[in-house]
Amino acid sequence: MRKFLPVMLIILSAVVFSPISVNADPPTVLTTTTVLQDIVGNIVGDVTTVETLIQKGVDPHDYQPSAEDSNKLGNADVVFYFGGGVEEVLDNTLQSLSDQGRAMAITEALPKDLLIPSDEEGKLFNPHVWLDPVLMEVAIYNITNKLIEIDPDNTATYNANRDSYLLELQQLHNATLKEVDKLPEDQKFLVTQHGAFTYWVTRYGFEYRSLEGISTTDEVSLQEIDALAQYLKDNQIKVIYLETTVPDTQAQAVIQAAEGIGWKVAIGGTLYSGSLGDGEASTYTGMMLSNAKIIVNGILNPPADAGAVDTPVFFLPIVFTLPVMARLVSRKKRV
Ligand SMILES: [Zn+2]
Repeated sequence: MRKFLPVMLIILSAVVFSPISVNADPPTVLTTTTVLQDIVGNIVGDVTTVETLIQKGVDPHDYQPSAEDSNKLGNADVVFYFGGGVEEVLDNTLQSLSDQGRAMAITEALPKDLLIPSDEEGKLFNPHVWLDPVLMEVAIYNITNKLIEIDPDNTATYNANRDSYLLELQQLHNATLKEVDKLPEDQKFLVTQHGAFTYWVTRYGFEYRSLEGISTTDEVSLQEIDALAQYLKDNQIKVIYLETTVPDTQAQAVIQAAEGIGWKVAIGGTLYSGSLGDGEASTYTGMMLSNAKIIVNGILNPPADAGAVDTPVFFLPIVFTLPVMARLVSRKKRV
């Protein structure tokens, strides 16, 4: 009997001290945007349903929470958000949930050297990290670890789901490279409405300009519109891109300004930045591949009339004669 005692003690202590779930209910998991809802949903799998605060088609920078949204935030076991100014209005609320261990900012959990600064001092960074699928692979590990922290009972499920989703992200990256490879190197320019695509262009080797900065709520001056128009003309860029969650007013102003200096620009397509879309774009990987296809197709197939504005030949005599006539008229007036 004596020799069995240590073994018995080990078995008993294993039973007594093994973690027993106090709450058998699945955790309440909330995300801020539809992009995160899909990404986190892939890791959560069948464990529970992931809800989102900001619905499809709504710009996260410009989102205003409702009373119901406040309840959702209060009831969630964990909230996943991007941070860094993406969910501008909710910044303080989400930060305080994060301080309590009930929320995780995707940007803050990433190593700082993987973030792209958005100011000269390097204090601020561009928060649109989800537009780089390779960077999101790192975020997937952080999300999985947070889920395990709040719900250790499902550790094996979360780890298995993470691994299969990582394969999907690698396939997305390869498919994007294949799309982008269709472009000649000297045509790899991207111009969008706000600076959401900084990570995407860095990963896939494009030169990039955006009308607004890292937020869609940034003010844009007439000088900035003119400067972008000049940039388009100087680099012979025929297409710019809209975004599903941003009004097109300022993009149209750029198109007009470009035409005013003799360069006709067209809309190359509408990209998904802050929100998922429909059809192929209703998942994160689908949205990302749609973006790549839209960008490549827009550059390879611009409308026939995009480019230098030709002055019709029959107008030329009038164009040259008008200043002369104007001078004559003004002379006559002076007399
Ligand atoms: Zn944005």
